[in-house]
Amino acid sequence: MTRIQPSLGSTDRRATTLLVALLLSTALGCESMISRMVDAAVARQISAGRQDLLTDDALSVFLCGTGSPLADPDAAAACTMVFAGGKAYVVDVGPGSQEVAQLAGMPREKLAGIFLTHFHSDHIGELGEWAMQSWVAGRSQALDFYGPEGVEQVVGGFRDAYRLDDGYRIEHHGADLLPPSGTEWVVHTVPSANGPGSRILEDGDLVVTAFGVDHEPVAPAVGYRFDYRGRSVVISGDTDVSDSVVVNSKDADLLLHEVLLKSLIRQVSDRVGESGYPRQQRLAADVLDYHTSPGEAAEAAERAGVDTLVFTHIVPPLPGAVRNWLFMREVDVEDVDVMLGEDGMIFRLPAGSDEIDIES
Ligand SMILES: [Zn+2]
Ligand SMILES: [Zn+2]
Repeated sequence: MTRIQPSLGSTDRRATTLLVALLLSTALGCESMISRMVDAAVARQISAGRQDLLTDDALSVFLCGTGSPLADPDAAAACTMVFAGGKAYVVDVGPGSQEVAQLAGMPREKLAGIFLTHFHSDHIGELGEWAMQSWVAGRSQALDFYGPEGVEQVVGGFRDAYRLDDGYRIEHHGADLLPPSGTEWVVHTVPSANGPGSRILEDGDLVVTAFGVDHEPVAPAVGYRFDYRGRSVVISGDTDVSDSVVVNSKDADLLLHEVLLKSLIRQVSDRVGESGYPRQQRLAADVLDYHTSPGEAAEAAERAGVDTLVFTHIVPPLPGAVRNWLFMREVDVEDVDVMLGEDGMIFRLPAGSDEIDIES
């Protein structure tokens, strides 16, 4: 039997050659496209690094989380980074915050301390990630943790949970690349009495003060003040209106104050109660008495002589235009600049100046 092979005519051969050439050029094109993408990603990574925040001529703040436990596509939970004297510090490490800092190119390898205001989950959820990621990013020294009574238990729990992961990484990459010293965590319990605060850290020109706030029935709960070369920033933590915040915010350049739109939450609570959801009604009503409304926070800032007040830990999450209107319409102060914080905002307070440069 004669098997007849189909033969290619000259037209078919030309088409095949063209197809091969096309596939080859596409493949080569893909390779060069991938190569260009890699170059762009590396360049972006390098240029995105905010090493400029590590200069010693300013106190700087980065908002890594302005949200709350309520899901918000635009805001991670509680988190504020502070930069002074070439080092980075973070106050509260809520869920999603590490990613916000990483994507913004924050120099996490310079992380020198994690400060916890209290132990609600929206303030501690990413503690392990901050510690681990800063170590992988290049931090080789031990990491200090600060918080009120209970901080040993919270940090100890995360320490245990991340121990296996540390071991995997050291074994995989080697101790030269990931020194075990970076996995040492040192815990400091800070005083939490209301009134004049206690100095808990002095490092060069930086002084950090802790003070008690009013977040009952959750206690202890504290806020922190950072003073550096004549500039100052205060972070209230979670609190109802508190004289202690006012005392410790005296003449501060920047106050980051938690805020909850009590008027709206009250309406929501009533409405869900009327709709036959008593459990949700109670949950919403319970939060009213341990947070601060926008108007109350603004009054506190004015009493303290604060220059600029930034709302953070913003509850509830609302769409852009409505959000600004609803929160700001309750603010009635003349001597304080007031604004809503957003994830990614940077405040730079140059030493020897009254200026606050805002980048958003
Ligand atoms: Zn809380
Ligand atoms: Zn909270």
